[in-house]
Amino acid sequence: MKMLKTILKQFAHKPVTTTFPAEPARHYDATRGHVVFDPSKCTSCTICMKRCPSQAIVVDRTAKTWTIDRFRCVICNQCVELCKFGAVSLATEYSVCGTPAERDAETFAITYVKPERPKKDAEDRE
Ligand code: SF4
Ligand code: SF4
Repeated sequence: MKMLKTILKQFAHKPVTTTFPAEPARHYDATRGHVVFDPSKCTSCTICMKRCPSQAIVVDRTAKTWTIDRFRCVICNQCVELCKFGAVSLATEYSVCGTPAERDAETFAITYVKPERPKKDAEDRE
């Protein structure tokens, strides 16, 4: 009897599954879509590269580049939590999938410029 009740209740409900890709995927505030990089905030500290569990990130301090292999990334959020400069964040939208032939890593040129230290006025020293 209990099972019959459950079955009848389910008839009255809409399906909980979606018909993606016929209808767009749902995104929520906590959806982990893809990693977004801001080249103007990255100080090339390499913490994200060292702590990424799937070795998806490569930071080249000499060439001033930051590279991510999205096929390796498991969207664990570690790089976002560790980057204290706010250069990495997670977007709720999923990135477009590519074929294995298109699996080139994405490389960004780092544009961060270290702010100059304020010079002390000659008057201050006197
Ligand atoms: S993204 Fe953040 S953690 Fe990674 S190298 Fe740049 S500043 Fe460091
Ligand atoms: S989200 Fe996780 S797996 Fe993806 S690049 Fe960041 S640390 Fe690596």
